[in-house]
Amino acid sequence: MNNIYNFSAGPSMLPIAVMKKAHQDFRNWCNLGSSVLEISHRSKEFLELVKNSKNDLRELLNIPNNYKILFCHGGARGQFSAIPMNLTKKKNQVDYICSGYWSKKAAEEAQKYCRTNIINVVQKINNVKYILPYQQWNINSNTDYIHYCPNETIEGIAIYEEPVFKNKNIIGDFSSTLLSRVIDISKYALIYASAQKNIGASGITIIIVNKKFLNKSNKLVPSILNYKIMYDNNSLFNTPTNFSWYLSSLIFKWLKKIGGVHKIEEINQEKSKLLYQIIDSSNFYKNFIHEKNRSQMNIVFELKNEFLNNLFIKEAQLNNLYALKNHKIAGGIRASIYNAMPLKGIKKLVKFMLYFKKKHS
Ligand SMILES: *Cc1c(COP(=O)(O)O)cnc(C)c1O
Repeated sequence: MNNIYNFSAGPSMLPIAVMKKAHQDFRNWCNLGSSVLEISHRSKEFLELVKNSKNDLRELLNIPNNYKILFCHGGARGQFSAIPMNLTKKKNQVDYICSGYWSKKAAEEAQKYCRTNIINVVQKINNVKYILPYQQWNINSNTDYIHYCPNETIEGIAIYEEPVFKNKNIIGDFSSTLLSRVIDISKYALIYASAQKNIGASGITIIIVNKKFLNKSNKLVPSILNYKIMYDNNSLFNTPTNFSWYLSSLIFKWLKKIGGVHKIEEINQEKSKLLYQIIDSSNFYKNFIHEKNRSQMNIVFELKNEFLNNLFIKEAQLNNLYALKNHKIAGGIRASIYNAMPLKGIKKLVKFMLYFKKKHS
């Protein structure tokens, strides 16, 4: 069973060390004689977990003191609604940078609550997709915030340069990239990520917000989505998803032990480089994204024809390489290689790709 490598885009694989620890703790967490699922979120032990998880995340991402961390419900989709509800008004304008499926969905949701400018930044030259440098984004002068997605999970397209506009508030959907590389939190008004990619299990969403935005929320915002209320209640306004929070806390500890975000970034670069090298080294596999915008988390590629795509996915599975089929809107193959995917898993996939190419060339 240990030999299976799961390339799922989310929920995605967890580090084995974290699973072992969760297994060990399951029926007797903190010597309480019960599981973390069975205890009060107001107990001393759980409050300790809340405190430690925040401190660990703050340390990992070097989060400045004037930024607050919230643990919320409703996934990234919940934030698609919460962001405009909390941070703008019906008549105000906001800018949504579109680089793929998720940023488009965020913009569509925002349209319900305010005047939403959609700015497409994907360009194509000779069939190769790239993203306009942020200096060329057509930002409106009168916008409450600019929302973008630095890693489009389905298309495998990424924005590595952190956008900076004078006196503008930047918001980022970091769902599939948070904790995979070093970022500068101070450049953002707010960033968010649902947990099931790099941070544990689905059910919990992390929000890191500059505290000056905590007082902006309109009173009509549903309490569960209201940043101020979540903050004032230490993210325990209602019952949190205990187990997801607990798993995230283990992920943070695991990452610290490895050497932090700096270290995992190096490993992630090495991992993605191996796959892109194989893709580029022949005409058999194809990726249509410019080098500077290729995702390090979601490696998307195609084979010469659809029949071979399907055969690749099937045969890979027989070789214990799971979940390589991309989302139906994109088609083709996607290897999601978040922090938990070990280098060994990449090497096994590379070996399989070489074998498959030889067999079908
Ligand atoms: C997965 C994902 C989402 C959706 O997350 P949910 O938790 O299912 O709402 C949104 N944005 C990005 C970039 C994602 O990768």
